[in-house]
Formats: sequence, structure tokens, C-alpha cells
Amino acid sequence: MIGAGVVGLAVARRLALEDREVVVLEAEDAIGTHTSSRNSEVIHAGIYYAPGSLKARLCVPGKLALYRYCEAHGVAHRRCGKLIVAARDAQQPALERLHAQARANGVDDLQWLAGDQARALEPELACVAALLSPSTGIVDSHGLMLAYQGDAQARGAAIALRSPVQGGRIVASGIELDVAGAQPMRIQARVVVNSAGLHAQKVAAALRGFPTDRVPPCHYAKGNYFSLAGRAPFSRLIYPVPEAAGLGVHLTLDLAGAARFGPDVEWVEAIDYRVDPRRAEAFYDEIRRYWPKLADGALQPGYAGIRPKIQAPGEPARDFLIEGPKDHGVAGLVNLYGIESPGLTASLAIADHVHDLLR
Ligand SMILES: Cc1cc2nc3c(=O)[nH]c(=O)nc-3n(C[C@H](O)[C@H](O)[C@H](O)COP(=O)(O)OP(=O)(O)OC[C@H]3O[C@@H](n4cnc5c(N)ncnc54)[C@H](O)[C@@H]3O)c2cc1C
Repeated sequence: MIGAGVVGLAVARRLALEDREVVVLEAEDAIGTHTSSRNSEVIHAGIYYAPGSLKARLCVPGKLALYRYCEAHGVAHRRCGKLIVAARDAQQPALERLHAQARANGVDDLQWLAGDQARALEPELACVAALLSPSTGIVDSHGLMLAYQGDAQARGAAIALRSPVQGGRIVASGIELDVAGAQPMRIQARVVVNSAGLHAQKVAAALRGFPTDRVPPCHYAKGNYFSLAGRAPFSRLIYPVPEAAGLGVHLTLDLAGAARFGPDVEWVEAIDYRVDPRRAEAFYDEIRRYWPKLADGALQPGYAGIRPKIQAPGEPARDFLIEGPKDHGVAGLVNLYGIESPGLTASLAIADHVHDLLR
């Protein structure tokens, strides 16, 4: 395994459960320091994704599996529900399309609410209509990763921190990886799963013998968050009708009840997680469309995460791209690209999918 984010750890757990000898190579000095700890921690219902896409097919079963897993393993989570809101009449057709798409994806518990019905649930909300998604929730992503790690280690898996994979080669008996770090080494494996997140393309391209035309492009779409000073007057997550490359600046709650807004979309060339406080201005405008009472000065720079996108800015949204031996011709190798949202929600289902590709 390359990468100890939530997806890499879920796959490591899945493979360890069937008694494979698993080693997870992680470049950083801790698990989950990149995208897996820089997201909204939302358990998505499966509403937004094109029917039949991998995102849709892995989110819905992934959500069910995740709730079951969290309950069984004591991972903190809450099925708090969410409202997707049309702030003006012109957005209602888009909300209707989302409703139909959700049904096509097997999400059949959404409820259409008129503006006053939505306000009966969340009195400070301004909207003409809303969709209530009761199966949306929040999860402690770090607790989840620790649980996956614990399961994997209990079945003999090893997590090697500070072990960046720098390259490798396809050989007759499998795949050789060159691992840098304090004690550089060469590891040979029959199976390699490249779950390096923002660096997955770079890792695949550094494997000698791997067909370079099977490495997709990689673009970074940063998402900035601002936190709310004081308590939010909402008990559910609030999402606007989505925009092009993200889901719109939404309000999410953490398990302690603190509110944060984001993520926006900022295309960047390099990984830099600093939040520019000047971006707050656009946040005030967007949030006040559905929460007019947001007070001046209430937003503080929070954190940022980066979406690993396959498409360039302005291009149509791409699906998860998970390629196994049948796609690229290299036995024992699975590459995961573009694992943006809902990768956290879908992590257990992605792990099953990778397992199937390796059979
Ligand atoms: C702003 C934002 C909001 C999101 N919100 C949600 C949400 O609410 N709900 C949801 O379901 N999903 C959400 N997601 C998506 C979710 O966070 C990701 O799909 C998920 O975290 C991806 O996990 P990963 O393991 O693939 O990647 P990562 O967490 O990035 O892990 C990859 C790991 O690989 C390691 N690595 C990289 N290169 C190497 C190398 N050469 N050698 C060894 N190790 C290496 C990295 O250090 C890292 O630890 C969001 C994403 C973003 C960016």
C-alpha cells in the first residue's frame, strides 16, 4: 500500500482481513495528514453524482457500511441530516434535478420542503425551497482512520511512516518500490495499491515499465474553510445548490457543534494549505444568500484541503478513476486517481472495489 490516508487505510484493512501480508508506506510522520484530515467530515447521502458513476455506486453502499462500521467500532459520528436550499426561485429546477438524480442513485429518503417548512426546522434559514436529506451525517475522520489502522494492525499489517515511495519498476515477479527516508530500501511486492492522493499520478509515472499513457492529468482545486465565532443557530448541515467544481460554500458542524463554512474552489499549482483571510469577503456574500443574519466579522480563517482533480479548470467533472490490471495490463497493481469527495464516505466501498480488481 502506498499512502496512509483514509482510503489507503481502508484498503489496507480490507486486504489484511483476508490474511495478506500488508505494509503501508506513508511519506509523512503520521497517518492522514493530507486530504483525509482536511475535509468537511460529512457522510454524504449519494445525491450529487451522475447515476452509474463510480462515485454514485461507491457512495451509497459506502455510506451504509460506514454507519454500520462507526456503530460497531465506537467511532464518533452523528446522523444529523442536511438541507440543500434554493435561495431563489431560479434555483428550484436545479434542486428538482438533484432530487431526481438522488432517486436514480438509490437515495429515496429525500423530502421536498417549501420555504416555510424548512424554516420550521431551521428558523434563521432564508430559502424558497429545500431538500431534506435525513441520511447525511458527520464523522470523526481521525477516529475513523485510527479504527481502520487498528483493524489492519490487529491482522498483522505494518504502517511504515516517513517512508516516501520515490519510484520503482515492474519486474517479472511483481513490483519493486524504491523507498527513501532515513533508511532507504527496496521492497518487492506481488500487489501494490497506489493510494497516494495528491501524488498518485506522480507515483504511477515513477514506476518504470508502467504505461505512461495510462497516467491521467492531475489538477489541484483547493478548498478553504472559515470558522464561525460563536454557536451557529442550525442543527443540520446547510448546503446551497451546488456550483461547478465543488458543492458550494456550505455550513457543516463538527461533533462538538462548532460551525465552519466552506470549501470554496481555488485552483492552485502547488500544495499550500494556508488560508488567505481576504477570501472571507466572498464567503459573506455566499452565506448571506441562505443565512442573512450572519454578522460582520463572524468568520475567521480556518483550514484548507486540496481536491485531487483529474479535470482542468472549466472542464466537465470527472469520476473517480480506479484502475486495475485489466485496465493497464500490469498484474497486481491498482492506481487510485481523483479520489476527492465522497472518498471519505465511500472508503469502505472503495476498499471492496480495489479488492475485487485484484481478484
Ligand atoms: C476540501 C475537501 C472537502 C471534502 N469533504 C468531504 C466530505 O465531507 N465527505 C467525504 O466523503 N469526502 C470529502 N472529501 C474527500 C475526502 O477527504 C478524500 O476523498 C479522502 O480523504 C481521500 O483519501 P486518500 O487516502 O485517497 O488521500 P490522502 O488523505 O491525501 O492520503 C494520501 C496519503 O498518501 C501519502 N503519500 C503521498 N505520496 C506518497 C509517496 N510518494 N509515498 C508514500 N506516501 C505518499 C500522503 O502523505 C497521504 O498521507 C473532501 C475533500 C476535500 C479536499
